[in-house]
Amino acid sequence: MGIRVLPSALIDQIAAGEVVERPAAVVKELVENSLDAGATRIDLEIESGGTRLIRVTDNGSGIEPEELPLALSRHATSKIKDLADLESLTTLGFRGEALPSIGSVARMTLTSRVEREERAFSFACDGGETMAPKPAAHPVGTSVEVRDLFFNTPARRRFLRSERTEFGHLDAVVRNLALARFDVAFTLKHNRRDIVSLPKAADRAEREARVAALCGETFLDHAVWFERELEGMTLAGWVAQPTFSRAQADLQFTFVNGRFVRDKLLRHAIRHAYRDVLYQSRHPACVLFLKLDPKRVDVNAHPAKLEIRFRDARMVHDFVFRTIESVLAHPDTGAGAARRAPTDAGALARQPSSTPRAPDLLPLYQRLHAPGAAAAAAVAEPVPTRAPDGSGLDLGVALAQLGGIYVLAEADQGLVIVDMHAAHERITYEEMKAELGADGLTAQRLLVPVDLRLAEREADQVEASEAALSRLGFEIARRGIDEVRILAVPRLLADTDVEPLARDVIADLVADGGSARVEAEADALLADMACHSAVRANRRLTKDEMNALLRQMEQTPRIDQCNHGRPTWTRITLDELDRLFLRGR
Ligand code: ADP
Ligand code: MG
Repeated sequence: MGIRVLPSALIDQIAAGEVVERPAAVVKELVENSLDAGATRIDLEIESGGTRLIRVTDNGSGIEPEELPLALSRHATSKIKDLADLESLTTLGFRGEALPSIGSVARMTLTSRVEREERAFSFACDGGETMAPKPAAHPVGTSVEVRDLFFNTPARRRFLRSERTEFGHLDAVVRNLALARFDVAFTLKHNRRDIVSLPKAADRAEREARVAALCGETFLDHAVWFERELEGMTLAGWVAQPTFSRAQADLQFTFVNGRFVRDKLLRHAIRHAYRDVLYQSRHPACVLFLKLDPKRVDVNAHPAKLEIRFRDARMVHDFVFRTIESVLAHPDTGAGAARRAPTDAGALARQPSSTPRAPDLLPLYQRLHAPGAAAAAAVAEPVPTRAPDGSGLDLGVALAQLGGIYVLAEADQGLVIVDMHAAHERITYEEMKAELGADGLTAQRLLVPVDLRLAEREADQVEASEAALSRLGFEIARRGIDEVRILAVPRLLADTDVEPLARDVIADLVADGGSARVEAEADALLADMACHSAVRANRRLTKDEMNALLRQMEQTPRIDQCNHGRPTWTRITLDELDRLFLRGR
C-alpha cells in the first residue's frame, strides 16, 4: 500500500477517537461551547444514556447563519486566532475539533439564531455528510442535537457500556460543569424524567444549596468555606473537616479558571494538607476553585483538556497546600468562614466544626442562667474569654469526667464533650512538631535508665543514628552487641512507657532507612510517638487538670481531630438539649 492522504471524513473520525470516547464526552464538549457562547441557561435532554439522543439548548450568542458550515469544519474556531491567544486562553474550547468530530460519528443538527437575525437556521451533518442550511424556528441561542452516536463506527459502539453506566458518566460531567459555573442555570432530563434542575446561584446561600444538591448535604454540613489570595492567585471553596472523609477520591473537585481538571499536582497538594489529620487510606473531600492569570496555565496538554500544566508548579502547589492546611487548622479564622445555618434539628452528633455559633442562642443561655439562678452558682470559675490566638474556640469550664475518657464542660452554647485521649494526642503532637521545628525535641533524663535488648542490626542503627535520635529527644547508648541503654526520652513523652516507645522509634528508623526519615517524614514519626502518649490519659483528672486541658486545646492548631482524624470534641447545644426534652414546643 502506497502512502496517501486520508479523506477528511476519516480524519474527523480518528480525531473523534480522542475527543468523543463516550456520550459523556459529547455532553462536555457541547456544554463547554454553550458556556463559551455566554449562555446563562443550559438545558440538556438525554435518551438512552446519550446513545440515542443528546440535545443541548442554550441562550448564548448563537452562530451567524453563514458560519454554520464553518462551525462543523475541522480546525475552525472563533476562540483563538494566533499563538498569543492560545497562551492566554480564557475560553474552554480552542481546538475547533469537537463539532466536526461529533458530526463524523453521529447524526447531528445545529440550530442557531443570533440576536440581529429574525430567523434561526439549522444545519445538519449525518456522519460527516453535510446538508444545506435551512430556516428554522429557535429563540436566540443554539441547540445541538446528536442522535445515534457511533451509528457508523460499530467498533466504537461496542465499547459503550450499559445505559445506566453511560448516564452515570454523563451525569458526573454535568455535575462538574454545574459546580464550575454557579452563574448558569442547568437542567438535565433523562428519558423525559427530570434529573437535575439548578437555578442560577448568586449568593453564598444559593451556591451552598447547589453544592448540597450536587455533592450531598452531609458534605456541606462538614465543610468550611474559605477564600484566600496570594500573588495574583485566589483559592476559594469548601473543604470538608477530616471527620468527613471518603474511601475514594470521589468528592474532590478542582477547578482552574472555571475549568474542571483532574490534576496530580492539585491532588497532591490537597492530600498533603490533610496528612496530619487523615488516615492514609482515606480521601479528603473538597470543592476548590483556583484562579490565576491564564498565562500561567497551559491547558493545551490533553485532548479532552482534563489535565493542565502550571508554569510555576511549585508555587501553586505550596499556595494550595498551605491554604488548605491553615483553613483546617483554624476553621474559625478562615477568611469569611461564617458558619452555615443549621440545616436539621436533630443532629446531636454534629461535629464542632460544622456547628454554627448561632448568636440567637445567647439570649436563651442568659434566660437559663440569669444571675442568681441555681445553674449560675454551679459555674465556680469565671467563663474563659476567647482564645488568645483569636481562633475563638471556647470549650468552657470543666464539670466532670465520664468513664475515665470523656471530659464534660459547660460552654456558653451548651455541653462540650472532650475525648481526652484524642485531644491529648493532638496536643502532644503539635507541641512536638513545634519543638522539632525550633531546635529538636527537648530531652529529659530518666531517673532509672532502661536497658533494651535489640537485634544486632537494630543496635547498629541506633549507634549510627545518634544525631537523629537526639533531635527527637532520645539519648540511647550502645551497651553491647545487641543491647542499648535509654538514658533520656523526649520531655513531652516523659510519662509514657519508655520501652515500647523506644522500640517503635528504633523500628521506624531501621525500616525507613535511618535518620533520613527524621527529616523527610518527621511528621509521621512524631504522630506515631504522640500515639504512645495517649496511654497515660487513662486516669482520673482533677478539675484543674481538666480545665488546663481545655485551655490547652483552645490554643492548639487542628485540635478538632486527633492525628488519625477522629474527632477530639463535640458539642450539644442548649438548643439541642431543649429539643431533646421537648422544651419550648
Ligand atoms: P471550539 O470550541 O474549540 O472552538 P468546536 O468544534 O467545539 O470548537 O466549535 C466550533 C465553533 O462553533 C466555536 O468556535 C464557536 O464559534 C461555534 N459554536 C459551537 N457551539 C456553539 C454554541 N453553543 N453557541 C455559539 N457558538 C457555538
Ligand atoms: Mg468546543
